[in-house]
Amino acid sequence: MELYADIIIDISHSRLDQTFQYRIPESLQSVLEPGNVVEVPFGRSDRPVKGYVLRITEHASCPPDKLKMILRLETNLAGAESKLTALALWMRDYYGSTTVQALRTVLPFRQKAAEKKKKWIVLAVSPGEAQQKLELCRRKHQTARARLLEALIEEPVLPRELVTGSLKVTASVWRPLEEEGILRCETEQVYRTPAILEQLRGEARKERDEESAEKTQNTAVTLTSEQQHVVDSICQEWETKEFAEYLIHGVTGSGKTAVYMELIAEALRKGQQAILLIPEISLTYQNVIRFYRRFGDRISILHSRLSQAERYDQFERAQSGDIDVMIGPRSALFTPFSKLGIIIIDEEHEPSYASETVPRYHARETAKKRAMLENAKLVLGSATPSMEAYYEAKNGDCTLFTMRQRAAGGALPQVYTVDMRSELKEGNRSILSRTLHEKMEHCLEKHQQIMLFLNRRGYSGFVSCRSCGHVMKCPHCDVSLSLHRNGRLVCHYCGYEEPAIRKCPACSSPYIGGFKAGTQQIEELVSAEFPGARILRMDADTTKGKDGHAEILRAFGDREADILIGTQMIVKGHDFPGVTLVGILAADMSLNVSDYRAGERTFQLLTQAAGRAGRGTQMGEVVIQTYAPEHYAITCAASQAYEPFYEQELAYRRLSGYPPAGDMMAVHCACESQERLELASSYLARFVRQVAGKYGAAVIGPSDEPIARINDVYRKAMYVKHEEPKVLTAVKNMAEQYIEINEGFRELKISFERC
Ligand code: ADP
Ligand code: ZN
Ligand code: ZN
Repeated sequence: MELYADIIIDISHSRLDQTFQYRIPESLQSVLEPGNVVEVPFGRSDRPVKGYVLRITEHASCPPDKLKMILRLETNLAGAESKLTALALWMRDYYGSTTVQALRTVLPFRQKAAEKKKKWIVLAVSPGEAQQKLELCRRKHQTARARLLEALIEEPVLPRELVTGSLKVTASVWRPLEEEGILRCETEQVYRTPAILEQLRGEARKERDEESAEKTQNTAVTLTSEQQHVVDSICQEWETKEFAEYLIHGVTGSGKTAVYMELIAEALRKGQQAILLIPEISLTYQNVIRFYRRFGDRISILHSRLSQAERYDQFERAQSGDIDVMIGPRSALFTPFSKLGIIIIDEEHEPSYASETVPRYHARETAKKRAMLENAKLVLGSATPSMEAYYEAKNGDCTLFTMRQRAAGGALPQVYTVDMRSELKEGNRSILSRTLHEKMEHCLEKHQQIMLFLNRRGYSGFVSCRSCGHVMKCPHCDVSLSLHRNGRLVCHYCGYEEPAIRKCPACSSPYIGGFKAGTQQIEELVSAEFPGARILRMDADTTKGKDGHAEILRAFGDREADILIGTQMIVKGHDFPGVTLVGILAADMSLNVSDYRAGERTFQLLTQAAGRAGRGTQMGEVVIQTYAPEHYAITCAASQAYEPFYEQELAYRRLSGYPPAGDMMAVHCACESQERLELASSYLARFVRQVAGKYGAAVIGPSDEPIARINDVYRKAMYVKHEEPKVLTAVKNMAEQYIEINEGFRELKISFERC
């Protein structure tokens, strides 16, 4: 019986799975599997190209003698690519996407950008022989040859530009010398280096020149006993266990970074490679330079501002063994290392680890899958672990380490909670409570620094009419417009802008204005109340420039300001020893978001924000201002009590069947026509209910997404819940088939998401 393979040829063009059928040669009949990379003849000229095996079948789609034969199985990829292909197929099945979409997410595919290659002319004989040849040329009056040889005797490797340029020697001159074996032409691929690496290299060189003893000491600290325990335990198991997962729950400042470095060093000692995932926003120079000091040019860095070509280069360097450590956001997970030893995910609770494009993968789950395929270790770290990770640790699926002490000494800050309702009752109408105001005064007197964190998740400074209640909304999205200092109204989802308004468009009342609670308003208020203080503000507006974000952090770190005001952005893992007071404004704002994770996110934000205080030698203080002081997310954050929060939150999730107590999958539908969306999504829901019902899985919806329209596209979602992830995969597979064969869904954009 003959077997045939459906093969995907080019993943750089189409998003759809266009396959070509090939015959499988005798020798591969028993070994070939889906996911294998092969070489096949393609096109009229039968040029050999790379292909990915998608399916193997017994049925030929046309007379078999019309089909071409697979040339060979790619085996010299040292395993990296075939494991990544297997990972892609898993992602396709688990999260839902086409094979091409999954492959493109995972494999470094080359965009047709011109490759930068550097060319060299190299002396291939001894200087003595070259000298003899030079004299011969002189005698023969071959002046160009002589010029080239003279230069090569002085400098045996010359850039080709220099030879053709200032030496004025052409190919017709060096070719004969090359044929004689006197010199060689070499081509070397030059990798485009991301700016951040250049910057690190420059800085490291400067440090070395200055022989700054203080800074080099930093590279290897003596670990605290808590840190050492984590490192020892993981290293001990390294030999015996193939795959293992660990969760490090370490309070802010417990020194998780030093632990990561030791684990990476261990991998390198074993001749293996390491991937460290850091949320994009924390990929600051300050954080990365520590790794560079320790590992030098063995590391590379990815971030979202790299061009496709730069990214490709870094992956190529990884594949060729040029580097051993990759640091980056979630996509660094796909670095094609051939002997991957460890994957570390810092701040594993961060929402940015979930991809929003198809396949909508989560880096935590996907890293686990990759680590299993590679027999590598997976280490998660956080001061506020995600419910999912802690749940696994509690169930024994992953080993839990707890670090309770701050590594550099210093206690956790003292936290005060202020009920803003009583402030108002007692006549204080300011955004700042009396407690916070007083503490700020003290702080400024002592020349210490302050951070004011405005919790704006799920809120934008909307504009409403005080006479009729009309709210200014974006004409394309179902969100309210935000008021900017220049008076313009801006939509944060689609960028729509309109000029300032003076009258209510609904009732013509002049009493229309912004709800005063944006970072700009706070800046104005604080500068009025504390006239001498130097203030920096960090939000989406002030960080627009290329390095705006980094520049503000640097300035604050160098104490060029006393007060830093900002949103979520200032919370993320920045270490400012001068900060002794953190004020959290509108702590409960994020509790009002319609998302079952609202409590978890609020707890995480508040705990992380509080953790910014007292990172130096001075004791830290935190003031939490809230309208819901009794909510467990707030009381637990105030007492920095993770475990009680986890227990209460889990009880709530159990009650409603939300992850991690049960598994849940979202089906997102979007369409420009509201009616068609209405109709098609209810059709789909009927089918999904039918299938899900057979497994006893519940279906909720379809209902509007929290934002029901973005950029004139209407959005609905339904949710499928069951304890077994496999059931959700089965439901998804059936739904995918149903969608594919039904014309009625063509106009909808449908995507699946594992929650
Ligand atoms: P986090 O756990 O919050 O990521 P970091 O890794 O940023 O904590 O460490 C917090 C501070 O403690 C840093 O300034 C770091 O240099 C310092 N630190 C870490 N480990 C040690 C140690 N073993 N001895 C002294 N200081 C340490
Ligand atoms: Zn009005
Ligand atoms: Zn809009």
